[in-house]
Formats: sequence, C-alpha cells, structure tokens
Amino acid sequence: MLIAITGTPGVGKTTIAKLLAEKLGYEYVNLRDFALEKGCGREVDGEVEVEIDELAYFVEKELKDRNVVLDGHLSHLMPVDLVVVLRAHPRIIGERLRERGYSKEKIGENVEAELVDAILIEAIDEHENVIEVDTTNKTPEEIVEEIIGLIKSGVKRRVGIVDWSEVYDEIIPYLRLGGE
Ligand code: ADP
Repeated sequence: MLIAITGTPGVGKTTIAKLLAEKLGYEYVNLRDFALEKGCGREVDGEVEVEIDELAYFVEKELKDRNVVLDGHLSHLMPVDLVVVLRAHPRIIGERLRERGYSKEKIGENVEAELVDAILIEAIDEHENVIEVDTTNKTPEEIVEEIIGLIKSGVKRRVGIVDWSEVYDEIIPYLRLGGE
C-alpha cells in the first residue's frame, strides 16, 4: 500500500511518516528528495519547484506497487492508496515555523493555510480515501497508533474533525491582516 502523509509545513509529516514506516515495516520516501532524484524538481531560492504531472508519473511507475509511506506537502496530489492529512492547532504551526526561522510572511501564509483547511480541501478533491488526524497535544507515538488503528479497522475516510475557526482569536498575531 502507498500511504501519503501530508499537511501544512511544520505539522509533523516527517516525524510521523518515519515512525509510521518503521511500525508498519514500510519504506519511507521523502517526496521532495524523490522529485529531485527523478529530475522533476528544481531548487529555486531554497525551495523545490515541482512538475506535478511528471512526478505523479514516476510515483505511479516506481512506488505504486510497493509498501511505502510518502512524506510531503504535495503527496496528496500523487496517485496513492490512502492520504493521511495531519492537522495541528495553527498556533503550533506558527511556533514551529518561527523556530525554523521562516519569514513573518511565510509563517502567516502557512498559519492561514492550516486555518482554512487548504490541504484537506485539495486532498478530498483528489481522493476518496482521506483520513484526517488531529495531532494537537499528542505524541508522535500516539498519532502513529491512531493511524494504524484506523487502517486496521478498515476506515478509509474520516474528514471534518477539526474547526480552527473556534480558536481564531488565539492565532491573530500570526495572520497577515490588513494586507501587510
Ligand atoms: P513537517 O515535516 O510537517 O514540516 P516535522 O516532522 O519536521 O514537520 O516536525 C516539525 C517539528 O515539530 C519538529 O521539530 C518535530 O520534532 C516537532 N514535532 C512533530 N510532531 C510532533 C508532536 N506530535 N509533538 C511534538 N513535537 C512534534
């Protein structure tokens, strides 16, 4: 089975994907590295720009029939069997990206993306099998157990479990309000 782990930058994709792969005995593949390896990504100002269709072709050809956990914020756009969308309180995204040294603008962009369910919406647009997992206040072990539990019990779709509009007031400091 090919499982995508997606979500807003900073949500915990790499941490969870590696641990999930280890627990399931699957291979771990980082989509960014895979794209660069296949020549369908190029580095522009430290970020990788990817040709989605070309990358999907290589994923289909090389990963589809293997047991792989695919890590990346574009992995839900690939031909996978299951998409796991990780979610976290947008404040956590803001704090983690600040620690990573992202610019104020980049932090705001990503906090907003988490607030408005941007990746979830893209994922459900592309796939039927989408599982959303709220990682807030959970350890990586707990999150991975939750994912494995859902897979083992045959759950293929579970979406609509968080609503960050309820915590909007807490994340105002991170937002790019007033067209800044
Ligand atoms: P992503 O791949 O989505 O950008 P990372 O896996 O790199 O996210 O995680 C971002 C940061 O958050 C890392 O410092 C990681 O150790 C930490 N982290 C990830 N998941 C958790 C968690 N469940 N609890 C606490 N810290 C976490």
